[in-house]
Amino acid sequence: MPNASVTAEGLAKGLVLHLTFDRDETGDNKVTDTSGQGNHGKASGLPKGVVHLSDDDVRFRTAGGVNVFVDPVSWPTDELVVKSGMVKPDLILITHSHGDHFQPTILQEYVSLNSNVILAGPPDVARLAREKGMKATEVKPGQSYTMAGVKFSAVPACFLEGDSHPKANQWVGYVLQLDGGSYYVTGDTQPLPEMAELKVDVLFPLLYGCGGNLEQALKMAELTKARLVVPVHTGGQEEVIKKYLAQLPKGVQGAYYRNGKLIVGP
Ligand SMILES: [Zn+2]
Repeated sequence: MPNASVTAEGLAKGLVLHLTFDRDETGDNKVTDTSGQGNHGKASGLPKGVVHLSDDDVRFRTAGGVNVFVDPVSWPTDELVVKSGMVKPDLILITHSHGDHFQPTILQEYVSLNSNVILAGPPDVARLAREKGMKATEVKPGQSYTMAGVKFSAVPACFLEGDSHPKANQWVGYVLQLDGGSYYVTGDTQPLPEMAELKVDVLFPLLYGCGGNLEQALKMAELTKARLVVPVHTGGQEEVIKKYLAQLPKGVQGAYYRNGKLIVGP
């Protein structure tokens, strides 16, 4: 049952917060050593090997005050993070182990803020997190879970061609059930037939970079029949975002975030 409160206005009221940051000029979202030059990290600058903050970081707070972070790659000390109050996670969900989605050093900071936090991700993410001394729970595509009181499903995320996001890795996207609405963060994936089986109110698709593009993101909107579409993995390409929102199926609302502020429509 779609929830009437799941609208762009509802998002703007703060159920969902998406943190946006610029990529580096090359558009490269691999792990970049920005040691000492970043202004996103602690006062001392970013530790070595930390990714240049990108736009895959989506955070949710339920009406009951449960904070769910998907792929948090922004530091707890970042201005937008602090301003939003979305600093202390109850549940952290990781889609896959690429550096623009998964940063163990940053996760350690978040984990240190809440000893009860649950960190979950696909097998390689769980293994890498454990190697860094964090407790981690494994999720598998096609399975449903309740963690920290939040119901969600892990769904497949992959590209069937090429070897950047192979199906064999069991990487995932997440469909979260929050306050009667259904929120789908796709992670890095092409449109997949499984998407047509999902019940989705709000879609957060990969739009640009990492194998994603406008046509595929349109297909995802079509398959999921989401009523509201908020592209998140956009590389900050505002022209592409606007073009995308303008081409969404009839009756589907589009919105995107610029510096943490929701902008509705193309
Ligand atoms: Zn990726």
